[in-house]
Amino acid sequence: MKFDPATEIQNYLVFGEFGDVNPSICDSSTYTFHSVARMEELFDHEIEGCFLYSRQWNPTNKYLSLALARMEDGQWAHVTSSGMAAISSTLLELCSAGNEILSGRTVYGGTYALLANLLPRFGITTRFVDLADEELVRKSIKPNTRVLYCESMSNPLLEVANIPRLANIAREFGLTLVVDNTFSPLILSPLRLGADIVVHSMTKFINGTSDCVAGCIVSSHDFINRLNNINTGPCMLLGPVLDSIRAAGILKNLHSLHIRMVRHSRNALYLARRFEEVGLPVHYPGLEHHPQHELVTQMMNPGFGYGGIVAVDLGDKSTADRFMTRLQEEKVGYLAVSLGYFKTLFSAPGHSTSAEIPEAERQKMGMGDGLIRFSVGLDNDMERTWNVVHDCLKELRVPDRTSEREHELAYA
Ligand code: PLP
Repeated sequence: MKFDPATEIQNYLVFGEFGDVNPSICDSSTYTFHSVARMEELFDHEIEGCFLYSRQWNPTNKYLSLALARMEDGQWAHVTSSGMAAISSTLLELCSAGNEILSGRTVYGGTYALLANLLPRFGITTRFVDLADEELVRKSIKPNTRVLYCESMSNPLLEVANIPRLANIAREFGLTLVVDNTFSPLILSPLRLGADIVVHSMTKFINGTSDCVAGCIVSSHDFINRLNNINTGPCMLLGPVLDSIRAAGILKNLHSLHIRMVRHSRNALYLARRFEEVGLPVHYPGLEHHPQHELVTQMMNPGFGYGGIVAVDLGDKSTADRFMTRLQEEKVGYLAVSLGYFKTLFSAPGHSTSAEIPEAERQKMGMGDGLIRFSVGLDNDMERTWNVVHDCLKELRVPDRTSEREHELAYA
């Protein structure tokens, strides 16, 4: 039967302590035991329904984890205090000093900095490659490579990873495939496509209200238990715990994710098409000319669209800066980093969320100074929004090919 992650979330019913539909928030850091023997037993192994200390597990966090495991079709999940905590804990569990990670070259700037600057201090190195080049990926795998790492849709260039192909390579070489699915919750189900571990920044679409920072890891029972092992687990020992009050809020928001993703995607496709019509270079996987349009169409769960992020290239930094300033003045949205909010957010990644990536690298991957990333909001009337955006473009005298295109179409 067809897998529908939204139905999985819908069918996840929690009956709270008092029959409450939103289960009571567990407001405790520690838990009592009727006997010393029971406490000692819990130190030894997991006991269903028993909790020891909230750095390891909290009932509210467990409710959210169960919902996320169902959404991603994993065996089990763990929520963390940020997306970076999810990524760093996962990689520290998978790698030891002397090991190497093979990563896509277009990843979020914070992830790039973790891989390029921080992990080498612990003897873990990373090679960044174009994961679309299968030959190069194969050639780059060394005996000490342990992990293949990618973003399902990369930040900010929206390159789409061929997850089934990467999963085959990972299997062949005994590597673990880790996919950051932050940009495409519900749209892509990496575990079903062959990945071993999925991570999310729940700060973004999953929560959707830009009021907290959170992350999650979805994988097998074994891997999640390893993360929480009291002697060796990075989540247990580094302690990136999500607060239970935040977890309860995210669980409520998760239940409207499918409606939000459909609208984010619809509005983003509309904006991408309009940018394309005026002749601006646009990156959006829903456009037919996007290099991985066919691939993503084959991989995606139907009905949620192609995601809420669009990147457009204004050519140079000064034009991009003036455009974003005018968009905020005209209330199109906020000049702000992050994404997945109900209002539109825009920023120039080269000087913000991807500033950690050296300029030469950014230029090589096609991330120019004029690139603007839009996280398209839930606007009710995108035509109205576009009219304002278009006016701002006209003020900047960005070359507009609309009339030329209309002419071409009329005579096509
Ligand atoms: N992964 C991606 C793709 C992101 O865009 C971000 C943040 O922008 C992160 C991970 C990090 O998440 P957080 O800010 O929740 O730590």
